[in-house]
Amino acid sequence: MSDFAATKALFQLPEGLIYLDGNSLGARPKATTQRLETLLSDEWGEMLITGWNKAGWNDKPGTVGNRIAGLIGAEAGHVVMGDTLSIKIYQALAAALKMNPDRRVILSDSGNFPSDLYMAQGLIGLLDRDYELRVVAPEDVAANITNEVAVTMITQVDYRTGRIHDMKALTAKAHAVGAITVWDLAHSAGAIPVDLVDANADFAAGCTYKYLNGGPGAPAFIYVAPRHVDTVEPALSGWLGHEAPFAFDPDYRPGFGIERMRVGTPPVLQLVALEVALDIWDMVDMNDVRAKSIALTDLFIQEVEAACDMVTLASPRDGNARGSQVSFAFEDGYAAMQAFIARGVIGDFRAPNIMRFGFTPLYIDEADVIKAVEIISDVMNNRLWDAPQYKIRNAVT
Ligand SMILES: *Cc1c(COP(=O)(O)O)cnc(C)c1O
Repeated sequence: MSDFAATKALFQLPEGLIYLDGNSLGARPKATTQRLETLLSDEWGEMLITGWNKAGWNDKPGTVGNRIAGLIGAEAGHVVMGDTLSIKIYQALAAALKMNPDRRVILSDSGNFPSDLYMAQGLIGLLDRDYELRVVAPEDVAANITNEVAVTMITQVDYRTGRIHDMKALTAKAHAVGAITVWDLAHSAGAIPVDLVDANADFAAGCTYKYLNGGPGAPAFIYVAPRHVDTVEPALSGWLGHEAPFAFDPDYRPGFGIERMRVGTPPVLQLVALEVALDIWDMVDMNDVRAKSIALTDLFIQEVEAACDMVTLASPRDGNARGSQVSFAFEDGYAAMQAFIARGVIGDFRAPNIMRFGFTPLYIDEADVIKAVEIISDVMNNRLWDAPQYKIRNAVT
């Protein structure tokens, strides 16, 4: 059994604050201070450039990728770290389109995160070959996987509502009509058990600063199935994805296996911070995380609905159909969220009217949920959000 009291003690959580936004930026493992201190003084400070070899910096995209693989049901050696999720989506999509050259439709859904859609739009503009980004309602995805579709580009867990797509069923449907799948795991990795091998996924990518607690700016990961990895064209053909980066050959030749999905110099400080977070992930079983996540989100829904009749649940009621977040719709949701934050409950707001709360079993427990609901109830029932200072929009919501 995973010991969540033990994991909670390993995070820096400010006194008096209930952090329900680990779905946007995970909390900080205490041990990152010491580890980064050592990295700065002993590795960067003392080794300077020799750290790329001596401290294994250059291998980190692969070694850290292997640890991520364990959390998403991927084969070892098929996940590599680097860049940001938007870039990894672009890279996967470009590679996937190349594998299906006679088709012109990229299928996505309106619940997808805008950056994924924007990256597809940018790629289509660049290719200039009449590609179409077809965006349908989330519930219509399955019916729209037809033999026109080159690639499905789907985010498994909806960032607004937490609704989960059935990765295995949609992948099977895509394969049955000859389409390639690109899965975005932004709100899946560290939130729900993911089994890429069982789902038979082709490509997947995700970020590590949300549920995985890698810190602001932590790198993305990308997965390519073993059956594709030796033939796939990486599109972003940077030198560290080259077969022999230090041969400085003027012509690109893709590297071996997943290494070809690397682009440029890896973010070593961020990878090391992520390693510290992954040490905590080593202490828990993902099935225990999921069970506790469902218990926490169920409790939150029950308590908020009992206390606040002015909000409407915007997430699936069935815990098995929901990621590790709960969203409530409320017309003045932005102001309400600012009022919660002012009283020590941090969630976030997603336009047009969604108040979003993330539940991270590694450092959130039942007592936090109960305390948070007391504050939320006070704000909502006494209209404490109805004050001018809560209505000024920040750049990052
Ligand atoms: C958070 C998120 C992103 C963010 O992409 P970055 O390039 O890391 O900023 C992309 N897609 C989805 C589905 C997300 O939830």
